[in-house]
Amino acid sequence: MNYKTDWVYNPAPESADHVRIQERYDLFINGKFIPSVKNAYFKTINPANENKLAQVAEAQKTDVGLAVRAAKKAYENIWSKMDPSERGKYIFRIARLIQERAREFAVIESLDGGKPIRESRDVDIPLAAAHFFYYAGWADKLEYAFPGRKTQPVGVAGQIIPWNFPLLMLAWKAAPLMAAWKLAPALATGNTVVLKPAETTPLTAMKLAEIIQECDLPPGVVNIINGGGETGQALVEHPDVDKIAFTGSTEVGKFIMKTVAGTGKKYTLELGGKAANIIFEDAPLDQAVEGIITGIFFNQGHVCCAGSRLFVQESVAETVISKLKNRMETLIVGDPLDKNTDIGAINSKAQLDKIKMYVDIGQKEGGEIFQSSCNLPKKGYWHAPSLFTGVSQSHRVVQEEIFGPVLAIQSFRTVDEVIAKANNTPFGLSGGVWTDKGSKIFALSKAIRAGVIWANTFNKFDPSSPFGGYKESGLGREGGLEGLMPYVHLV
Ligand code: NAP
Ligand code: MG
Repeated sequence: MNYKTDWVYNPAPESADHVRIQERYDLFINGKFIPSVKNAYFKTINPANENKLAQVAEAQKTDVGLAVRAAKKAYENIWSKMDPSERGKYIFRIARLIQERAREFAVIESLDGGKPIRESRDVDIPLAAAHFFYYAGWADKLEYAFPGRKTQPVGVAGQIIPWNFPLLMLAWKAAPLMAAWKLAPALATGNTVVLKPAETTPLTAMKLAEIIQECDLPPGVVNIINGGGETGQALVEHPDVDKIAFTGSTEVGKFIMKTVAGTGKKYTLELGGKAANIIFEDAPLDQAVEGIITGIFFNQGHVCCAGSRLFVQESVAETVISKLKNRMETLIVGDPLDKNTDIGAINSKAQLDKIKMYVDIGQKEGGEIFQSSCNLPKKGYWHAPSLFTGVSQSHRVVQEEIFGPVLAIQSFRTVDEVIAKANNTPFGLSGGVWTDKGSKIFALSKAIRAGVIWANTFNKFDPSSPFGGYKESGLGREGGLEGLMPYVHLV
């Protein structure tokens, strides 16, 4: 699979040697690492072998209160008043340190989450750094982002991220990848942050906390607290949190929407997906097969925008499915730290159980399953790359998000038919079109209601490009200029 991006900074990370994981991680509040008030800890494990990696402090409601108080004080006294170009310098510093520690971040991300090192090394970590670089650049240029308008930061942002791309989400909101997605725009626009990573993947966020401390970011500007759903809920409900940035399931997203209704809090929700990946008969079929593989098996299919529904034009369906099965047989499933691995471990036992449940449902509903004949390791959480044929629009494996390496395939004859089928889900996050004809690409990307449509490629990300969903896939956009919007009031 080819996931290379232009952001690669690449000191070969494919071994855990010399990567320091502490036995215990505390909460990062007001620039310091402190235990939770109840001194409670939970363990995070390596899903590839079920070994314990570390103990992580579990934030209680009181701890959430302390973190929000620190963020509010830092917002009022320092960060919102700081010259924007100074704020930018801090964010640049975070970006550079992520690059310098890229190897360590990549190894920890793969150990804690189960994803292949090639993906964390070549995609997650470089992209996380890229998000910080990108938004650092906006910090002192907001008048160009919103011409003729003045911007005011929103205040304290509560950011909640899932386990599939922890660091990227952090940058996007604040997790290395997920963290990067969230933190970077919030900080650039003058907000302070309380971030909660997912319970199964807290470690790269804690590494990021170390970097933030090293950068001398004023205490309280970024606070990182771990814990489960209750911790997240306490953050959402806290009256001094002015904005919620949530990435996770549609179910929890709906719950958050109800909680913040009428409070005046701003919010963005990045939720689930069930993307259509559409292959026309005039597409370059070998490339399309690679795109199908990337679309569904990247990060074990734990991807909100995964191409989990494949639509192949009838005249080439047999050829494509046969090529796809052959290609699946070549995928290497195993040790996430081996740089040749294509497919790593499933993130948790709960997620593995969910995937197995759907595979069972798919068969009971009459679908025909094909699984690659790879040997799965005995310990840890593993699932063979799988696909279903003989399924239709009403099958649950076609309608519901599985969030695993399971593809549902249908064929189609006409453009209108495939548009109707592609739009026939509650989701609208992403999609893919494979064809030689530009006019078809334009027609489909207009007609399919989804936040991003990839043409002759899949799962490509760039910090300058906005990302987000329609329908039950969420509200608001992250990334690009649009990603600044949720963090400012325009005056
Ligand atoms: P999840 O169960 O909704 O959890 C997401 C985050 O919310 C976790 O940090 C979780 O904490 C926390 N949480 C759980 N209950 C909460 C509550 N009542 N109030 C506040 N926070 C709460 O989702 P997940 O299983 O981690 O992630 C997979 C889902 O995320 C998939 O549906 C996927 O499509 C979606 N996703 C969407 C995007 C996007 O950009 N659209 C990107 C990635 C993933 P704990 O983990 O500690 O329980
Ligand atoms: Mg873990």
